[in-house]
Amino acid sequence: MPSSQVTILGAGVVGLTTAITLAQRGVRARVLFDPSRVGQSSWVAPALFTPYAGTEPARFARWTRGAFAKLKAIASESPESGVRMGELREYCYQRSHYQAWMTELLAMRELAPPAPCATANTSVRPHVDMLRYMPWLEAQARGLGVEFVARVVGSLSEAAGPEDRALINCSGVGARRLVPDPLVKPMHGQLVHCPNDLGLTHSVHDDAPGGLVTYVFTFADRLVLGGTFEAGRDDAQTDGPALEAIVDRCRELLRLDGFPRWAELAKTRSRVIAGVRPTRGLGSEYEHTRVERDRLPDGRPLIHNYGHGRAGVTLSWATAADAADLTLEAIA
Ligand SMILES: Cc1cc2nc3c(=O)[nH]c(=O)nc-3n(C[C@H](O)[C@H](O)[C@H](O)COP(=O)(O)OP(=O)(O)OC[C@H]3O[C@@H](n4cnc5c(N)ncnc54)[C@H](O)[C@@H]3O)c2cc1C
Repeated sequence: MPSSQVTILGAGVVGLTTAITLAQRGVRARVLFDPSRVGQSSWVAPALFTPYAGTEPARFARWTRGAFAKLKAIASESPESGVRMGELREYCYQRSHYQAWMTELLAMRELAPPAPCATANTSVRPHVDMLRYMPWLEAQARGLGVEFVARVVGSLSEAAGPEDRALINCSGVGARRLVPDPLVKPMHGQLVHCPNDLGLTHSVHDDAPGGLVTYVFTFADRLVLGGTFEAGRDDAQTDGPALEAIVDRCRELLRLDGFPRWAELAKTRSRVIAGVRPTRGLGSEYEHTRVERDRLPDGRPLIHNYGHGRAGVTLSWATAADAADLTLEAIA
């Protein structure tokens, strides 16, 4: 009996993990995507395992555990994917609010906080080199028979082909117009890449007051310095003053960490880049991710999987599993 076909709209990290999950469960999957990568989230993200609590604690805990286990397995079984487990040191100006299950999951230990921090900790987390991971995910999908079609669509109905039993909407910030969903908003972020010629082996992160979160994420061939978080801004431009401020803040963070060569950070830069995070929510709520069953105007099932905000790389395998469950139920 021929398997059912579904179309997945979006070839970001959310669309690719969803396509792979469905193909592994025997569904014939087709991915539609806009071939212009400019500003798209997944190709820009650095990325580290950074779960943000969202609005539903039980679902959040389940997703975080599931996604962590999957990325940890990929790091161990497929190092060529660009995923590796590595140390992150966090310097917290506010008191840390990690729940016990999260500290256990991330093997988190308290560190003596340097002034003026209130707490500090070290944990072991997936580091995901997206420039290797995205092509690896695409290769996994193609290996499972997933078809890729480069086409920009003007509506969700247009995305569903005549043979499709269901459409899965993984369009990121595109969902704002396509659904339409006014809760979806872009959040602009800028990054500086530089060669890792300092011998840094761990990553560092802080939560400085005023939302000025700063990080240096360490990958095999580069350091990624961030960040900026401009809610509502929807372009892929970088600006000089913002980039210089990132470098200054990152040097200060490494100094706080006690790294002796902090002042040499980013003397040479290999790349500056910006993109938008697909946030969803009201006010300062950014990760009200939507994984839900809906209907296309012609009655066929429409499964939403979007609005991952600052944590799409982190949670994509978990939301993909839920989206696949909903799809299989809908087409059974
Ligand atoms: C600077 C920065 C740093 C980040 N750091 C981290 C981090 O450390 N950890 C982490 O977990 N996350 C991080 N993120 C967030 C993460 O990148 C996103 O949450 C994630 O990439 C969202 O993936 P997505 O597949 O939903 O969206 P996208 O990657 O934007 O993909 C959307 C897809 O939909 C397609 N599409 C949309 N509209 C249409 C249309 N009309 N027709 C055809 N195709 C369409 C696009 O072509 C694209 O393929 C960061 C993001 C940025 C920008």
